[in-house]
Amino acid sequence: MQQPRRIVIVGGGTAGWMAAAAFGRFLTPHYEVTLVESDAIGTVGVGEATIPQIQLFNNALGINEPDFIKATAGSFKLGIVFDGWWRPGHRYIHAFGTVGRGQGLIGFHHYWLRYRQNGGAHDFWRYSANAQAAFANRFGLGVPDAGVAIPYAFHFDASLYAAYLRRYAEARGVQRIEGRIDAVSRHGETGDILNLSLEGGRTVAGDLFVDCSGFRSLLLGEALGVGFDDWSNWLPCDRALAVPCASAEPFTPTPRRAFARPAGSGAFRCSTAPATAMSIAARWYPMTKRRTPCSPISMARRSPSRGRCGLRQASAAKCGAATVWRSGWRAASWSRWSRPASI
Ligand SMILES: Cc1cc2nc3c(=O)[nH]c(=O)nc-3n(C[C@H](O)[C@H](O)[C@H](O)COP(=O)(O)OP(=O)(O)OC[C@H]3O[C@@H](n4cnc5c(N)ncnc54)[C@H](O)[C@@H]3O)c2cc1C
Repeated sequence: MQQPRRIVIVGGGTAGWMAAAAFGRFLTPHYEVTLVESDAIGTVGVGEATIPQIQLFNNALGINEPDFIKATAGSFKLGIVFDGWWRPGHRYIHAFGTVGRGQGLIGFHHYWLRYRQNGGAHDFWRYSANAQAAFANRFGLGVPDAGVAIPYAFHFDASLYAAYLRRYAEARGVQRIEGRIDAVSRHGETGDILNLSLEGGRTVAGDLFVDCSGFRSLLLGEALGVGFDDWSNWLPCDRALAVPCASAEPFTPTPRRAFARPAGSGAFRCSTAPATAMSIAARWYPMTKRRTPCSPISMARRSPSRGRCGLRQASAAKCGAATVWRSGWRAASWSRWSRPASI
């Protein structure tokens, strides 16, 4: 089988530049990697709240963490706090990392359940280093060489992350083409994608195409007809309002945010990501930045005006146009061509 030699990535949001950076790291110069994006269409580019697995990706690229934090206006994150999701006043923390220590093949939660049945009063999260660090407003990088590490993730600006990865990818030979894709040409017999037609008449040919065009799903959904599995029945939020605050709140010793100054390492911020439920919406602070705007986000189901109203009450901020989506996923992540059902 002929090896694909030319890889074309469609889209330059977080997904596109992550793919480009990975290909630039591992595949160039053996493969020719091109990314096509349209400045006119733009990206989602909100604040990104990540989970610790992002470190696997960054480490695979050999990214220097302090550089990355600085370049993306990032902060460290020990977990996610859910305020008022079960009932008003209720708070749940999803702290990263393990909780307690099991014995042999028996997980810690079995011991804790028995302890509670016997009248023990301690909360489960008492046994989580991350939760305790967050509640105590503490953070540290641990001593990885000695096997002591606190699992953490980051909040960062998705646009800055994409820009950072763009620099990384272009330095490793990835070519960027700016332009709006107007048409996708496919082989008459196999159905394989052959090339992309850009406005102005330029075409971009490739052997392997990676669709990172976001909600639109230009190649997988539109060109190849891969169906969408709609989950909106179970995940009813269908729009978001990203609102820059006039100013960020000061960092306070609460589980929502923590601020730490470890000796010798300068000042850095660490936080949990608070997701606050409202009557028909949720606020989400994926990123906090000192002295710069942060981004509370409201998600509301089919009632944008009430969602805006709730957000305004919560943040006293002006809301722009909503990002609207359908929750779900593509029926397939990879498709060589859309085979008619009759074959
Ligand atoms: C409010 C909100 C909060 C979120 N919070 C989080 C979070 O906390 N953590 C998390 O992991 N994710 C979060 N997400 C999801 C995440 O931000 C998005 O999934 C991600 O940014 C989308 O990136 P993308 O690269 O897939 O698509 P996009 O950013 O939409 O990029 C699509 C790219 O395709 C290009 N494109 C599209 N059509 C064409 C065309 N015809 N021709 C040329 N180029 C084209 C565009 O120019 C763009 O470069 C959030 C999303 C929203 C809306």
